[in-house]
Amino acid sequence: MKIVKVETLCLSRPHELERQWATHTFRVVKADCAIVVITTDEGLQGIGEACAYGVPSLIREWVDWLSPLLIDRDPRDPGIVMHPNGRSARYDCAVAGIDCALWDLRGKIEGRPVSHLLKPNAQHRVKLYASSGCRYDWRTNPNQVIEETLSYLDDGYEACKVRLGTHWAWDGVTTDRFIGLMRDLSSAVDGRMELMVDGNQRLTEDQALEIARELDRLGFAWFEEPIPQADIDGYARLNTAVDIPISGGEQFTTVEQFRPYLEKRAYDIVQPDMGWCGLTEGMRIAEMADHYDIDVVPHNWHNGLMTMANAHYVAALPRPRICELCMIQGPLQWDILADKPFIKHGWLEIPDKPGLGVSLSKNLEERFPYIEGHYAVSVER
Ligand SMILES: [Mg+2]
Repeated sequence: MKIVKVETLCLSRPHELERQWATHTFRVVKADCAIVVITTDEGLQGIGEACAYGVPSLIREWVDWLSPLLIDRDPRDPGIVMHPNGRSARYDCAVAGIDCALWDLRGKIEGRPVSHLLKPNAQHRVKLYASSGCRYDWRTNPNQVIEETLSYLDDGYEACKVRLGTHWAWDGVTTDRFIGLMRDLSSAVDGRMELMVDGNQRLTEDQALEIARELDRLGFAWFEEPIPQADIDGYARLNTAVDIPISGGEQFTTVEQFRPYLEKRAYDIVQPDMGWCGLTEGMRIAEMADHYDIDVVPHNWHNGLMTMANAHYVAALPRPRICELCMIQGPLQWDILADKPFIKHGWLEIPDKPGLGVSLSKNLEERFPYIEGHYAVSVER
């Protein structure tokens, strides 16, 4: 069997005005998607979604450039496996899309789900957490984050992650005010859901420590990326100072990048994304994290095909925990798939089918033509 074609579908869908979401100092105006499709001479196709943060059109350029290394090769040949370099998000996302597509193809060749190729006794279903809390505005209605979280509880989700809202300086928001909102959120949820906060690297160490202590007291499940990623020692100090796990690493694509964070115990949970690092490297990262007794909970944003890769990954982890699910991507998220996986009460069933277990809808490029340009515009007040 030989690979005869490697291509990248670049897709977009503009958000309706009411669906646009604003956080910190930017407003997201469209949903993007990049899908790598690898075709063999026997007509089998492997599909893998690359993280759109690598920019779909630039991911396609890299995939095209790398394709001579794949054409005419057997998809089962271990020699064709590519590795992320940890330096270029665009290159790494292209490699990740190719890697996920190759795993899907190998699963189809062997007639087994990817999760079973990664680990023979992988879980058959994966718990999801609702990831959002992205659109609340401190000026108009900060309580929107509570209303939104309760709506996910109504949908059966048992865990939800929220963020910091619009730029604090615009409205004189302090850590005290944020802590007050998290207390209100916690009492509204009243123990019926696990709660997490993603700081998106926006806080100082002092602010982060103050908030972490309160989240700890309130029983939040983790505190993600509170401070700038490069501050390893700051992360290590925070992680030592509180019981609540400090998490991060969504932009890291190699086990080497995780090394200082693991050695210094800077994170209690690491969050690689299979659309960004690929399943091959993702499994190496998971093995090393397990060696340090650190949990893996993948970052998972964007669309349904990447959710499938991350779900198969969670199912095959040494200690499967939970998978992120973006709640605000709009119709593109699942419309790219002809056969959406079964999701109920916040659990995703791993399809009992070969590969990633899903297929692409028809005419995607006509239905969702790619829109050049950044997915967000910056907002000033
Ligand atoms: Mg995050």
